[in-house]
Amino acid sequence: MTIAIVGAGISGLVLGYRLREAGCAVRLFDGAERAGGVVQSVNEGGYLCELGPNTVAGTAEYLLDLTDDLGLENELVTANPAANKRYILLDGELHPVPTNPIAFIQTPLLSGRAKLRMFAEPFIPKRRRGEEESLSDFVSRRLGPEVASHLLDPFISGVYAGDPTTLSAAASFPKLAELERVGGSLFLGAIKSAFGKRKNVQPHKKRRRSMYSFIDGLGTITGALARSLAGETELGTAISAIRREPDGYYLSIDALERRGPFQRIVITTSAPAAASLVESLSSEAADELRAIDLPPVSVCHLGYSRQAVGHPLDGFGFLIPSSERRSILGVLFSSSLFPNRAPGGQILLTVFLGGAHHRDIAGLGADPIVQRAEAEVRELLEISEAARFSRVQRWARAIPQYTLGHDDRIARARNALTAAPGVTLAGSFVGGISVEQRVEAANKLAIQMIQEWRPGRGADETTSVSAR
Ligand SMILES: Cc1cc2nc3c(=O)[nH]c(=O)nc-3n(C[C@H](O)[C@H](O)[C@H](O)COP(=O)(O)OP(=O)(O)OC[C@H]3O[C@@H](n4cnc5c(N)ncnc54)[C@H](O)[C@@H]3O)c2cc1C
Repeated sequence: MTIAIVGAGISGLVLGYRLREAGCAVRLFDGAERAGGVVQSVNEGGYLCELGPNTVAGTAEYLLDLTDDLGLENELVTANPAANKRYILLDGELHPVPTNPIAFIQTPLLSGRAKLRMFAEPFIPKRRRGEEESLSDFVSRRLGPEVASHLLDPFISGVYAGDPTTLSAAASFPKLAELERVGGSLFLGAIKSAFGKRKNVQPHKKRRRSMYSFIDGLGTITGALARSLAGETELGTAISAIRREPDGYYLSIDALERRGPFQRIVITTSAPAAASLVESLSSEAADELRAIDLPPVSVCHLGYSRQAVGHPLDGFGFLIPSSERRSILGVLFSSSLFPNRAPGGQILLTVFLGGAHHRDIAGLGADPIVQRAEAEVRELLEISEAARFSRVQRWARAIPQYTLGHDDRIARARNALTAAPGVTLAGSFVGGISVEQRVEAANKLAIQMIQEWRPGRGADETTSVSAR
């Protein structure tokens, strides 16, 4: 079976790597001149800038297995433990997010009334049925409206660059909705789930919960995958359409050039690009994919001399609730998080702008973006000099929003594509947006495809591919 993967971001690369490992013939195609998609690490004058994702968070089991398989374990770095401290801006001041009961009682991030309301969470009855709920409504119902506006809203800016009033709770954070379903409340659901996990985890698979990157940035992993798949990858090859013919599928590059035939096509591009690709197979699927929103995001790196910054930069960074009406979403203290991010005596900040609340960023050039970012950080972090280094990365369509109706939209698109058997949607608009979720989804799809390819092959034989 010859498989074509359109898109060589982390999703496509991991899928290609796992399929080839199992002996499948794969070809990857990417319109860009370099593989990796939004995962890009660039070192300019000693400032190591992540143009897309900065950290892989959580247990990151799939990423860690991949790291081992690629022989990159010595290049992996865990975040400075101080990074557990995160700030939120409220009424113009930065406050640490409380991480222990005393800090919780003392924090000004929530009123006394809101804190009491949080304690009532286990007693709020579980929602039995009704219309799909937004993330904001879900959190307001369970934990109170102040938690939704002061804590959830900035958190969602940090993860989705999104608006929690439009995101679907079930689609964007399925595990959260699941906690309520299994435990009756988030509190009891979390306890049940922690006990269940402890029982199931094999001792050698236990890893510390942390945040990860690599000495030279996250681009290390996509770089290693891309090198390993160089013989199977065509870069600078944007696919314009997928055509079905009697001997298989063909990928059109332009009116004259095409590649094929392929028995299976996996699409790992963004939703708008996927829509164009499937248009010739199903206009209904294309319409559904086109309806997925991807707000613009700009990433601005700023370098300063350490002594010019009044703030201790003792943590992960800070996030800003939309109610603060600032022109940035948040800031990472990049050189506090990982070593090797800035030259000696300097610090590196990564400022995020745009997202669902600030779509006007799409029309701004690099200079006004630096000006906006600088104005905010100079005030909030007490910086007394102009930036010594700046760099802007603009993503016109950054992160897919799993808004209300998302799961139904994907189901309708997939259903419409059953008319084109062997064509699979596997971009970041299905299965989660984080790097770890992308690696997990690609691993799982690889297993499924290998089992379809060799139906006799049992789960035991695929462990080298599944790794769990
Ligand atoms: C600014 C930003 C910050 C983020 N921060 C984090 C973070 O800190 N932690 C985290 O876990 N996640 C983060 N994410 C999310 C995560 O990085 C992405 O969801 C993930 O990397 C997407 O990978 P992908 O391979 O699915 O898609 P992409 O990386 O978008 O790759 C898709 C590929 O398809 C190619 N392509 C598109 N159209 C065509 C075509 N017609 N023909 C051929 N090729 C085509 C593109 O060139 C691209 O290489 C962030 C995302 C962004 C944008």
